[in-house]
Amino acid sequence: MIKHSLTLTAAEHGYWFIVSQGRIFLYDDESVPCCALNALPFPVKESQISWIGTYNQQDCYLVVFDDRVTDAQQWHTPRSLLPVGEALFQLAARATQVALFFQTHRFCGQCGSKMHLVNWELAALCPKCGHRCYPRIAPCVLVAVLKGDEILLARSSRHKAGFFSILAGFVESAETLEQAAIREVKEEVGVDINNLRYIASQPWPFPHSLMTGFIADYVAGDIVCQPHEIAEAYWYKLDDLPETPSQHTLSGQLIALAKTLQNSK
Ligand SMILES: [Zn+2]
Repeated sequence: MIKHSLTLTAAEHGYWFIVSQGRIFLYDDESVPCCALNALPFPVKESQISWIGTYNQQDCYLVVFDDRVTDAQQWHTPRSLLPVGEALFQLAARATQVALFFQTHRFCGQCGSKMHLVNWELAALCPKCGHRCYPRIAPCVLVAVLKGDEILLARSSRHKAGFFSILAGFVESAETLEQAAIREVKEEVGVDINNLRYIASQPWPFPHSLMTGFIADYVAGDIVCQPHEIAEAYWYKLDDLPETPSQHTLSGQLIALAKTLQNSK
């Protein structure tokens, strides 16, 4: 549930997620969005405020700015809140995704008229043709492929040398999560898998993904990397891994789980 255009007196206290261009305003010495309305560094209009949830029993508000209005060093990606805790990261993810929704749904994609926000659900509605839009969420599969005491790790061509992770890919239209996992692994490294086990999910607001994590077993095929996406991929012993993602990320959690499963055998 999201509430729009609140009165400033109703929103005096709480946490303020001030978002501009996918980034959140944080004071240099704080790792959480600032408290109390009178501490905000910008003038805020009631029409800019939306209620997005609670944190530490206090209300959380989103304020969207079209432009960054102060020092770029104070605008942070939601990723910087990941080590602070899951609840705060989730609110930061919600804030940046809702801000992006507001900014990209001002006009109807079907007839070009100005859209209105619906006041009882998070949706934008075209008053002329009735076209209704909801925030985009792009599901993505992460797959930890296991073969005995080994795990398949790949380095994306976007990542630095020496940094490896499990395979990932977006779900395509009319595809199940399981079909996407099998297809992505085959496309990216040429390997067949089965016995997919769903583990967990994580919102990933860069800009609007929902990560879903699976563990799967190797069936057949030699590693053949897809040239544009995968720079290199190998089987690694679970007790001798290269640099991998932190355990704040779902990828890191799946790799840790694979190690635990191996150790318990
Ligand atoms: Zn329309």
